[in-house]
Amino acid sequence: MPTTKIYRVFKIANGTVIDHVPGGQAVRLITLLRLLNSDSIVTMGANMPSKKLGRKDIIKIENRELTPDEINQVYLIAPEASINIIRNGEISKKFPVEIPGLLTTVAHCPNPKCITNHEIIKTKFTPKRAGKKIFFQCHYCEKEFDQRDLV
Ligand SMILES: [Zn+2]
Repeated sequence: MPTTKIYRVFKIANGTVIDHVPGGQAVRLITLLRLLNSDSIVTMGANMPSKKLGRKDIIKIENRELTPDEINQVYLIAPEASINIIRNGEISKKFPVEIPGLLTTVAHCPNPKCITNHEIIKTKFTPKRAGKKIFFQCHYCEKEFDQRDLV
């Protein structure tokens, strides 16, 4: 893919670009990753044409490289996303978000009876793929949920 596409919204010299976020989901992802609480400048493009997704969103975070834990969280909303690490104006690393093993997250378990909704514990989910669909199984109550119900 030509790099000019990646820079269509706003060129950053250093930081992280999350590409191939499903159209309309960038705001959810920015909220999930709590990017607005950080000092980084965050820019997003929404509803950009994409061969792979039809339309896609893109998020750019200046001067910050996402941690592996944060990259795992991206999977909750954008399992087909690719992460670009930008250093000195160049793409230093580019890789797809991978299906994580056990995912520790800030997302709530939708099961009201789940212990995570009664005690202060971080939720954990195991992603499971069934064809094109992805489910998340709660580590505590063992119920399975659609991505849409989680965040
Ligand atoms: Zn649960």
